[in-house]
Amino acid sequence: MKLISVEAQILDIPFSDGGAGEGLTPTPWRSLEIVLIRVETDTGLVGWGEAFGYFCSKAVKSVIDRMIVPAMTGQKFTDPATMITALQRKLVLFGRYGITMFAISGVDIALWDIAAKAKQKTLADYIGGIGRNRIPTYASLVRYGDAGAVRSFTERALEDGYATLKLHEITMPEIEASREVAQEVGFIVDVNCNWSIEDTRAFLPPLRDLGTMWLEEPIFPPEDFAGLASLAGTVPLAAGENLCTAYQFSAMQAAGAVTFPQPSITKVGGVTEFLKIADAADQAGQQLMPHSPYFGPGYFATLQIAAARECIALFEYLYVWPDAFPGLNQPLPRQGYIAPPDGPGIGFSPDPEILTRYRVA
Ligand SMILES: [Mg+2]
Repeated sequence: MKLISVEAQILDIPFSDGGAGEGLTPTPWRSLEIVLIRVETDTGLVGWGEAFGYFCSKAVKSVIDRMIVPAMTGQKFTDPATMITALQRKLVLFGRYGITMFAISGVDIALWDIAAKAKQKTLADYIGGIGRNRIPTYASLVRYGDAGAVRSFTERALEDGYATLKLHEITMPEIEASREVAQEVGFIVDVNCNWSIEDTRAFLPPLRDLGTMWLEEPIFPPEDFAGLASLAGTVPLAAGENLCTAYQFSAMQAAGAVTFPQPSITKVGGVTEFLKIADAADQAGQQLMPHSPYFGPGYFATLQIAAARECIALFEYLYVWPDAFPGLNQPLPRQGYIAPPDGPGIGFSPDPEILTRYRVA
């Protein structure tokens, strides 16, 4: 079996979240830029992948078009991990972190989709799944920066039946406003690297008193593992969405930086790197809390791995309302659980009408 084509396209799907687009992004965040990757074999199999592309979709697509398409087209299909490791070596000069690894992640997911489809299995079964059929899911609210809005979207998520919520607020009035109305559920605070070590030290006791399940990415830079380790002990810490490859995760683990590692399948290096991190977590008796605020093949692949591996404790569902979902039969949360997608492969079948309507490149 050979790869006869590798293509990347960009979908731009607007979403609403009821907020003002607050957050870390360069300009207000209003749409989901999905870098969708399609890989086809000479036996007629088609694999789908997704590379992280929010605010950087054109750069990621250009890495794929200029470097990965020529490197992969015509290659014999062996197994995804071997092919991707060879690709990582070929692109080593262009960075082991960021846009290059986002592009590699997307292609990797498509190769695993093909590998599982070739065996007529779901990805979960292909990687030796435990057969979990309901994935516990938390609502990941965007940053509102407004206590009233935080309270009302917290109430809405509770009405939807979520047993766990995550906020992206960075100041205590908004965090407390949510906890006031969400007293009986799991409660997570993610500050996207906005605090100093000193700020964090001050915020940890009140966050502990609110029963915070974990504090995510408190400090900048996120790879300051010694800084994170110095904050351990009051509230469990989590980080990893801004790390790439299992090597960075093993360095974070060796430093004792966090309780919950958070690989992001569209950034970390795809299924190949994610599974290495899951193996390490199993060995260490750790739980993973993956980062997955996306809706394309990365969403499907994360659900497949969550169905297969017990170390994945919770799935992150970005609590926004997209104008459309890219997949047919997109599995969605019901009462705080998602059923893993039906296979074969990752279970992603693109909706042709949505691909036509929202394609921008
Ligand atoms: Mg986060």
